[in-house]
Amino acid sequence: MIHINNLQKKFGNVHVLRGISCDIQEQEVISIIGPSGSGKSTFLRCINALEDITSGEIIINNFKVHDYKTNLNKLRETVGMVFQRFNLFPHMSVLDNLILAPMDVKNISKTDAIAKAEKLLIKVGLIDKIDTYPSQLSGGQQQRVAIARALMMDPKVMLFDEPTSALDPELVGEVLEVMKSLAIEGMTMIVVTHEMGFAREMSNRIIFIDQGIIQEQGSPEQIFKNPQVERTKLFLSKVL
Ligand code: ADP
Ligand code: MG
Repeated sequence: MIHINNLQKKFGNVHVLRGISCDIQEQEVISIIGPSGSGKSTFLRCINALEDITSGEIIINNFKVHDYKTNLNKLRETVGMVFQRFNLFPHMSVLDNLILAPMDVKNISKTDAIAKAEKLLIKVGLIDKIDTYPSQLSGGQQQRVAIARALMMDPKVMLFDEPTSALDPELVGEVLEVMKSLAIEGMTMIVVTHEMGFAREMSNRIIFIDQGIIQEQGSPEQIFKNPQVERTKLFLSKVL
């Protein structure tokens, strides 16, 4: 479903991604771990065409992401993204946050968009907040709304960039629960996370990125119990 070949990204003369290649199958749940500044967010942003790339290739669902002929709106319908900061529109109710893009980009009728929003808000446990504003919600609730908003577009893959890092510890669990239920339903997911419990329990594969390259990847079992690369061992010794 996702094919990435020798992806390179420089910001000026800072070489952030130095040749990343990987293939991701439909319904795979990938956790990306690695030290701060290693290029994890840049990697996700390249996948979603939020950054242009220096060289290499990313193909998602047959879309060449950085081909000038690719319709970026179509691509972004395929790829949902959830950020560390919840990025909801503060002046809009929860409902309006959810229905805006589908009505705008996908030309879904308001009635259908509302029906869909209600279904997704039930799914993330926030139907009672449908008419409230983001500022009236806790961080965990806002992040669940952000996930529901991304799901409104029926994405084929969801990217999560440290979705729980900005949350108070007691709010992390409710967001992880929503992500787990998505994974169980078969959503293809790439999750940059420091939640090693989630990574161990929910992912099919863990990718360890350091210094802009994939240093090691494997099943949670392999990576946590038997890491092969010194850098991975060192990183895990600090976070586990
Ligand atoms: P991570 O998410 O793993 O912490 P990032 O992908 O955010 O790492 O950043 C990797 C490196 O790229 C860092 O050195 C960061 O300063 C640099 N970087 C990220 N975005 C930009 C940008 N827009 N302009 C210049 N440098 C950037
Ligand atoms: Mg980051």
